[in-house]
Amino acid sequence: MPERPDLEHQVPILARRLIGTTITGVRVRKPVVLRAPLGLEVLVGRTVRDVRRMGHFVVVTFDGEWDMVVHLMLAGRFSFARAGQKDSGDLAVVWGLLGGGEGDEELRYRDDVQMGKVYLVPAGDLASVPGLLPVGIDVLGPAFTRERLGELVKKRREQVKVFLKDKNTIDSFGSAYADETLWEAGLHPKATTSTLSREQLDRLHAAMVKVLREAREEIARRDPPLDEKVRDFLAVRNRGGEPCPRCGAKIRSAGVHGHDAFFCPVCQPDLGGKGALDWRSIGK
Ligand SMILES: [Zn+2]
Repeated sequence: MPERPDLEHQVPILARRLIGTTITGVRVRKPVVLRAPLGLEVLVGRTVRDVRRMGHFVVVTFDGEWDMVVHLMLAGRFSFARAGQKDSGDLAVVWGLLGGGEGDEELRYRDDVQMGKVYLVPAGDLASVPGLLPVGIDVLGPAFTRERLGELVKKRREQVKVFLKDKNTIDSFGSAYADETLWEAGLHPKATTSTLSREQLDRLHAAMVKVLREAREEIARRDPPLDEKVRDFLAVRNRGGEPCPRCGAKIRSAGVHGHDAFFCPVCQPDLGGKGALDWRSIGK
């Protein structure tokens, strides 16, 4: 699924192409993705004034009257196309655009598993979108200090990967960048947050910032198209059976709350919920 580094690349592209354009029509091919009691037709004739990321959601504001909120989930993706250009079978919603500077253009939302959601709410009524508010602390902002992480963790007794993925606390990690962060920090994904030592929390804080910042920079450098995500630079995610880039052990996967977690059993040993060893001491 698109995660924060992907959206940090995609949302500015959407903003550049959409702000100032007016919706000329809407076609809904897969109504299952819609959470819009009045339908999306109320957007026809309205102009896009703002596009922004909030956590894992994309928020598009129309004339200060409507907020369209899209949660791309597992497989949702946006693309732009010429009006009438051939559709693909996973097409879910199409918005006709006027004034985009490139003639008759369409914004297309594709979703081959149809788990994504397109909400339409009165502008500012973001509290009615499940899971959106509150947006957690910005890991790359000045407020996310080591002390702040300590305060957040103190109240929590859960697996550290579950904590990382709580988007109402932290903005924001999905499965891929949570796995990368825990590998970077040398922490087992099932380690319990409340048992982490001061030194382990130092490493976790540093890894959270480093992984998100480096991913943002790498994706900016690669500049993929709107509907592609670049993941080939990740160390452990979806690399089960491959050698750990740090120690060469085979990367494994385990279930954490119904989702896969990929980790290195040597760099991130399972200590029965008691955090992890300092990997730098391994082999000494
Ligand atoms: Zn390793």
